[in-house]
Amino acid sequence: YKAKETHSQTCIFESSMDGLVLESLELEAELRQAIVKNELHVYYQPKVDAGSEKIVGFEALLRWVHSDRGMISPGVFIPLAEQTGLIHEIGLWVIEDVCRQLRQWADQDYAIVPVAVNLSAKQFQSVDLAKQVATILDSYHIDSSWFEFELTESMIMQNPLSSIRIMKELKDLGLRLAVDDFGTGYSSLNYLRRLPLDYLKIDRSFIDDVTQDLSADAVATSIIGIARSLGMQTIAEGVETAEQLMFLKDNNCDFIQGFYFYRPMPVDDATSLLERSC
Ligand code: C2E
Ligand code: MG
Ligand code: MG
Ligand code: MG
Repeated sequence: YKAKETHSQTCIFESSMDGLVLESLELEAELRQAIVKNELHVYYQPKVDAGSEKIVGFEALLRWVHSDRGMISPGVFIPLAEQTGLIHEIGLWVIEDVCRQLRQWADQDYAIVPVAVNLSAKQFQSVDLAKQVATILDSYHIDSSWFEFELTESMIMQNPLSSIRIMKELKDLGLRLAVDDFGTGYSSLNYLRRLPLDYLKIDRSFIDDVTQDLSADAVATSIIGIARSLGMQTIAEGVETAEQLMFLKDNNCDFIQGFYFYRPMPVDDATSLLERSC
């Protein structure tokens, strides 16, 4: 009886070892090595002011350039890093790499624009986040107004009360905070008004459909209205066409991000953009 059970378990194990499971075990081992092997790179995607179309900030987007597999999307390896706990190490590396870069830009007298870093759920919930961030900002002499975080609604709503506390700690450091992918989660408007937020980022799914679908138009303009009445600003993500841009300008969206203006780019290209705007 025992042997039979063991046998059947072995079979289940073996049959699931092909494909995805094996793949992600390998990937996990390789992700552990990625930092030391210098395979992680921060790309920078500009955000522009909707009126002047001038660059007003960057979003830091992580890239993994794997030696044989090529570029691996953060959509694949960030969830893996979350599951395995590697996200703590990787997340701190991103924050530090961005601060190192900001320091270099400042030392070269470029006009600095703030850089927004994405946080994952586990990072956000870790007890020492604000303290760790403060230490890194300090050691690179980074003005806290140069640094922003993007959080998602689901991260915040998992535990609204402790989220408010953590967000206040980050705000006390002088950082600005954005809600990413806004409109796709389940934010209660009652919490939203109590959150110390600076920006709502309108999710790409609504931007994709504006000018084609009246309900997407209505959602986008409602988000802009809610943000305005709560004293926050709006950023549209995933803007790809002139029509989308026109719609957003007409409806008083504050900032625009998307392939229409710029794709995420390696740091040297971002530096050239700063050079030109000096
Ligand atoms: P996100 O923060 O919502 O980032 C926006 C995503 O949309 C990025 O994908 C960006 O490259 C893409 N994008 C920007 N403009 C356009 C556009 O006009 N059209 C289209 N089709 N896409 C556009 P990416 O770089 O693949 O990142 C995916 C997600 O991975 C991010 O979504 C974010 O949640 C996560 N991520 C990226 N870097 C980090 C990081 O350093 N830490 C954490 N925790 N998560 C990260
Ligand atoms: Mg983001
Ligand atoms: Mg987003
Ligand atoms: Mg999105």
